[in-house]
Amino acid sequence: MPMSNFDDHFDVIIVGYGFAGAAAAVSAHDAGARVLLLEKADNPGGISICSAGGVRISRDLQASFEYLKATNAGTTPDACLSAFAQGLTETEAFIRDMARINNAEVGVRWAKANYPLDGGDSFGFVTINDIPGFEPERDFTWGRGLRGGTRLFKVMQDNVASRAIEVRLGTPAVGLISEDGRISGLIAGGKRICAKQGVILACGGFEGDPTMQAQFWQAKPVLSGAYGGNTGDGVRMAQAAGADLWHMWHFHGTYGFRHPDPDVYPYGIRLHRLPDWVPGKPGEEAEINGFFSGGDDARMPWIVVDQRGRRYMNEYPPYVQDTAHRAMSTFDPDTQSYARIPSWMIVDADGLKRGPLGFPAYNDPGVDFAWSDDNAAELDLGILKQAGSIEKMAHGMGCDADLLGETIQRWNTFCQNGHDRDHARLPATMLPIETPPYTYGELWPICANTQGGPRHDERQRVLNPYGQVIEGLYVAGELGSIFGHLYMSGGNLAECFIGGRRAAFEACGATR
Ligand SMILES: Cc1cc2nc3c(=O)[nH]c(=O)nc-3n(C[C@H](O)[C@H](O)[C@H](O)COP(=O)(O)OP(=O)(O)OC[C@H]3O[C@@H](n4cnc5c(N)ncnc54)[C@H](O)[C@@H]3O)c2cc1C
Repeated sequence: MPMSNFDDHFDVIIVGYGFAGAAAAVSAHDAGARVLLLEKADNPGGISICSAGGVRISRDLQASFEYLKATNAGTTPDACLSAFAQGLTETEAFIRDMARINNAEVGVRWAKANYPLDGGDSFGFVTINDIPGFEPERDFTWGRGLRGGTRLFKVMQDNVASRAIEVRLGTPAVGLISEDGRISGLIAGGKRICAKQGVILACGGFEGDPTMQAQFWQAKPVLSGAYGGNTGDGVRMAQAAGADLWHMWHFHGTYGFRHPDPDVYPYGIRLHRLPDWVPGKPGEEAEINGFFSGGDDARMPWIVVDQRGRRYMNEYPPYVQDTAHRAMSTFDPDTQSYARIPSWMIVDADGLKRGPLGFPAYNDPGVDFAWSDDNAAELDLGILKQAGSIEKMAHGMGCDADLLGETIQRWNTFCQNGHDRDHARLPATMLPIETPPYTYGELWPICANTQGGPRHDERQRVLNPYGQVIEGLYVAGELGSIFGHLYMSGGNLAECFIGGRRAAFEACGATR
């Protein structure tokens, strides 16, 4: 390999300092490599610090594989799913090992996966519950709404800092260098930098790139839910090196609000989280899995209607934060419009008292926005509006009052009977809309994080469209995620650790 044109030399270069980059950096270092970790932003953390910090684990490799196979519906080869399932059984030990750095308290909870499929009860979560003396929002001043993900990131950051890993912040990678059919380095900070053993792209997806989104997603617009720095750089760099792409249509998202002034708050505002649930078999009581916020109270005080005032979906699918946006994407060629973008959320006075409707979490030093406990500030801002009657609300929404009245009356009858005949929403989640004033607000599809990117094999090696390995190029984390059909909560963070570690071991030629 001609090394003379390089300004700098490392064994392994990792692009992106989120969980995937941190896991890869620590693992490559511990395998004996001289490591450079590049981060485009001035602060590390990416989307990772915004996350809830739930990392999926498994206690039964084969059962987890079966579940993953069913939920990926033929979009990901068995070998990748099998390697991932194997990694799920090893991740708790890795997190525990990492947590020793700052005496972090590790929690494990066994919780079913999101869908009632064979193998779904083989899963759990590992989390960092506490780090002595550490407070996410106080210590990570460049983000807000921070919690479990930030604690986990602090663990990884302390591990990176305790090793001889060179970290360059504010230094985007802008292109890969290919020599003799192999990726031999990259360009960053105006320098050509050699990566003797490989480059690992761990630079997230394309949440911050509406142009790339427009090419792959039907819904428009989709608001970015937490972080603007992931602009598809890894997708483009890999493509330029000959990579195939997969899962580009798939993003982890939901519906939520938009701030009226994008200069004040440019991100979509995700909903205050209600518990995920695992649907039961028909006729059985559904099981409520209150792992995240909200305890076991899964009553959702709102309904969602389109621009004509009609309900069109189950507002509370098993994993609201993942698939709830999907029904919004329908384009109506007749009217040449997206009649569901924006949609409207409707809550009555009792529902509004149940607590904050939104939960913004973001990584951006330039903004400062929190949702008020009583939703009053959002009414002042115009994110939410109020009307004393259905007629006035219909006027404010620009829809037919009779149609909206029928929708609400029908919903209230469903609530009385405990049966949503239109969209089969779970009875335990239903609340009537009956007490004025009515609160309503526009709802938009929101992308928490993307799943698509360069296709890779079970060793995290990037593949070209003919399935051949692009030597010296690896991928980790949500960039080129394995999830191609239905996502599993906690799966993206698991992928950061599993893929990051594997990519590092492969690049270093290390055994595990
Ligand atoms: C609110 C929220 C909650 C979530 N909760 C969970 C959860 O509990 N469990 C779970 O599994 N998943 C969760 N997710 C998803 C999960 O957080 C992400 O998928 C995951 O953190 C992505 O990690 P990553 O390391 O791949 O990317 P990131 O953490 O985004 O890191 C990528 C980094 O690469 C940098 N970068 C980009 N381009 C370049 C470049 N050209 N050069 C150098 N650096 C570059 C970026 O600035 C960024 O810092 C959540 C997501 C959101 C939004």
